[in-house]
Amino acid sequence: MSENEIRNTRRVFLKDTSYMALGLFSLNMILPAAASCQSNDTHTEKGMENEQKASKLGIALVGLGGYSEEQLAPALKETKYCRLAGIVTGTPSKAAKWKKKYDIPDQNVYNYQNFDSIKDNKEIDIVYVVLPNGMHAEYVIRAAKAGKHVICEKPMAVTVKECEDMIQACKEAGVMLSIGYRLHFEPFNLEMARLGQNKVFGNIKTMQATNGFVLPKGVWRADKKLAGGGPLMDLGVYCVQGVIYTIGELPIAITAKEGKKTDKEKFKTVEESISWTMEFANGAIAKCNTSYAEDLNILRAEAENGYFQLSPSYGYHGLQGETSKGKMNFPDVYEQALQMDDFAQCVIDKKPTKVPGEMGLRDVKILMAIYEAANAGKRVELQW
Ligand code: NDP
Repeated sequence: MSENEIRNTRRVFLKDTSYMALGLFSLNMILPAAASCQSNDTHTEKGMENEQKASKLGIALVGLGGYSEEQLAPALKETKYCRLAGIVTGTPSKAAKWKKKYDIPDQNVYNYQNFDSIKDNKEIDIVYVVLPNGMHAEYVIRAAKAGKHVICEKPMAVTVKECEDMIQACKEAGVMLSIGYRLHFEPFNLEMARLGQNKVFGNIKTMQATNGFVLPKGVWRADKKLAGGGPLMDLGVYCVQGVIYTIGELPIAITAKEGKKTDKEKFKTVEESISWTMEFANGAIAKCNTSYAEDLNILRAEAENGYFQLSPSYGYHGLQGETSKGKMNFPDVYEQALQMDDFAQCVIDKKPTKVPGEMGLRDVKILMAIYEAANAGKRVELQW
């Protein structure tokens, strides 16, 4: 089969509307499964290279900030089923730099105004939205309308309604939607899920989840309009995720309290820190805390017959884990490469992603309940 034939066969396949059925939410989606394997093929012959390129799905990154530049673009050099094919940026100097660095042709470079014309670009299969949180909904919906499968960074959006609209737009367009929850492909976090869900140390009684760093001044993360909130939206979402995939259940009630602001100017529109408790139907309690004023990074479970924990737990590399029986030992992986390859495989094989839009919606519902509990100073119950 020639390169063109391979590509055309794949295109017909990708247009199939049976993707529409893949977005349905099931409680199974809270449970992470084993990570996919990947290999790093390093063929050097030009013909082989071109053939590989043609058979990989093309990803366009939208928003060339820190995460795209330092993590996603380098990861896309290691992926087996997808490649960096295009960029969408509002900064012309970045476009020039990226075109050269990643060999991206002019016709695959877009800005925010002409982004919708990406619909005519057959080299782009997946749009990956890596913009400030408050812009996710608009660009996911535009990508879906352009007929592209979508990965959206966390948190999925800044309101529940936005998340619902994004899911609806992807369903209507017959495209798949996934959230950039890279830790579902990371062995230490998968081990927390295995130990917790299989009750290896018995039932979990309590959990602790913390995540924080010191936010520099003058960034969109402290601007409510662009961020949707403070550290809860950005970092607290990892605590919510970690607790749920470790316990394997959804919280039924929340109490929360915003921390005192030590820098009222920097945190004029968002919280500086917030702590909250999640209650579970099985009696487990998770105590969580997130902050833009201190370094925090723990996911810990106390169970009937022992404990298990990660610290640090949410980073890209260098995670460390232990249980009451000893140290965890897992290889360092390229989380983003595994995550994007997994989604590419889901698109190719038409199978549901384990980190779908519905999971992003679920988490945003929980984040909003945490704010509600903190603002009202009362226990908020969650209905699922
Ligand atoms: P950055 O601030 O580094 O980059 C955001 C980029 O968005 C900018 O560089 C710019 O790109 C574009 N942009 C467009 N409009 C605006 C605007 N009004 N203000 C600021 N930027 C704008 O953010 P990150 O890359 O750190 O974060 C982007 C998203 O990725 C967030 O949703 C974040 O939560 C998520 N993220 C996820 C991580 C993970 O581990 N999964 C880690 C880090 C971030 P351009 O100049 O090209 O237009």
